[in-house]
Amino acid sequence: MNFQLTQEQEMLVDSVRSFVEKELLPYETEVDRADEVSPQLAAQIRGKAIAAGFYAFNMPEEVGGGGLDYLSQALIERELSKVSWALHVFVARPSKILMACTGEQINDYLLPCIQGEKIDCFALTEPGAGSDANAIKTRAVREGDDFVLNGSKHFISHAGHADFAIVFAVTDTYEHNGRKRNAVTSFLVDRNTPGMTIRRGPKCVSNRGYHTFEMFFDDCRVPANKVLGEVGKGWDVANAWLTAGRVMVAANCVGQAQRALDVSLQWAADRKQFGQAIGNFQGVSFKLADMATQIRAAELLTLHTAWKMDQGTMTDGEAGMAKLFASEVLGRAADEAVQIFGGMGLMDESPVERIWRNARIERVWEGTSEIQRHIISRELLRPLLR
Ligand SMILES: Cc1cc2nc3c(=O)[nH]c(=O)nc-3n(C[C@H](O)[C@H](O)[C@H](O)COP(=O)(O)OP(=O)(O)OC[C@H]3O[C@@H](n4cnc5c(N)ncnc54)[C@H](O)[C@@H]3O)c2cc1C
Repeated sequence: MNFQLTQEQEMLVDSVRSFVEKELLPYETEVDRADEVSPQLAAQIRGKAIAAGFYAFNMPEEVGGGGLDYLSQALIERELSKVSWALHVFVARPSKILMACTGEQINDYLLPCIQGEKIDCFALTEPGAGSDANAIKTRAVREGDDFVLNGSKHFISHAGHADFAIVFAVTDTYEHNGRKRNAVTSFLVDRNTPGMTIRRGPKCVSNRGYHTFEMFFDDCRVPANKVLGEVGKGWDVANAWLTAGRVMVAANCVGQAQRALDVSLQWAADRKQFGQAIGNFQGVSFKLADMATQIRAAELLTLHTAWKMDQGTMTDGEAGMAKLFASEVLGRAADEAVQIFGGMGLMDESPVERIWRNARIERVWEGTSEIQRHIISRELLRPLLR
C-alpha cells in the first residue's frame, strides 16, 4: 500500500493551511463572540476563496468546480475545519445533489453556485423527522404546472444566507414489504417564493455565527420545472451524496482533533506547576499520547475510506465507520484538551473552549453516532440474517 500523498496533494494541503491561517483564523474570536459573520467578511472570504481556486472544490471540473478526487477533498476538509464552520462555510461546497440539475436549472442554480453567485441550503429535517428522514410530513401536491408545498422544516443550516433551498417533500406513498413508505421528491425553491417563510432557529452551542433556520411552507407554489431529479426519486439523488458527506465530516473531525492536540501540546510545554512544565507529569503526557494515537487512527481510517470512494469500492457501512470513529475521537480529544488546560480550558479566551463546544455537533448531524452504528451493524449482519 502506498501511503504517500502526491506532490499536488502536499501543495494543496500547504496552500489551504496558509489560507486558513491568513484569511479565517484571525476572525474566529470576534465571530464566535458576536455569533455573527458580517456580510462584508462573508463576501471577503468568498472572494478570496474564489481567487485562491478553493471555491466549489468538491464539484466536477466539467461544470467549473475543482474536479478533485475524494482523497484530496478530505485533505482540504481536514485543514478547513481547523476553524469554525461559521467561517469556512464561505469557502462553499455546493450540495453535490445539484449535479442532478437539468435544462434551465443548470444555468439558474448549478453554475451560479459554483461561480459564487448563489448559495444553496439543504432542507430535509423536520421537527417530527430527524434520524427517521423517511417520516417527513411536508407534502407537495401537483396542481396544473405547479406543485403546492405545505409543511415545515427545522435545523436548516445557513438558510439565512441561501438564495434557494433544496427542499424534500412527500409526493406519493407506496407499499414496501407490507409497510407504507413515502415517495419523496426534491425541489429547488427560491428564497422569495410566496408561501415560504424562513426564520432563525434556536441558538446553538456549536459553531457560533453559523445559524440554523426554520422554514414554513403554506400553499407554496413551485413550478414543476423546479423538480430536482425525477418525481418520487428524491432519495436516489440525496443518498449517494449524504453518504459521501459523512466521510467529509470525518475529515472535519480529524482536523479539529488535530488542532485540539496541537494547542494542548503547546500548553503542556508552557504551563508550569510545581516548578515544571505540566507536560512532565505522566497524568498529562499520557493524555497527549492517547490523543495523538487516536487521531492518527481516525485520520488513517478517514483517508483510506476517501481513497476507497475514489476506487468506487466504499460501502455505506465504511462511510459510517469513518464518521462514527472520527467524531468520537474528536469528542474525547476536545474533552482531554479542556482537562489539560485546566480552568483556562473553559474560558472563551482559549481556543479549547470553542473546540470543545464545536466538537459536540459532530456526533449529531449528518447521522448520529447511533444511526452510524445502525448502518454498520446492518451491513455486517445482512448476509447472515434471513
Ligand atoms: C446545528 C445543526 C445543523 C443542521 N443542519 C441541517 C441541515 O442543513 N439540513 C437538514 O436537513 N438537517 C440539518 N440538521 C439536522 C440533523 O441532521 C439532525 O439533527 C440529525 O439527523 C438528528 O436528528 P434529530 O435531531 O431529530 O434527533 P432524533 O432523530 O430525534 O434522535 C434523538 C436521539 O435518538 C437516537 N435515535 C433515533 N433513532 C434511533 C434508532 N433507530 N436507533 C438508535 N438510536 C436512535 C439518536 O441517535 C439520538 O441520540 C442539523 C442539525 C443541527 C443540530
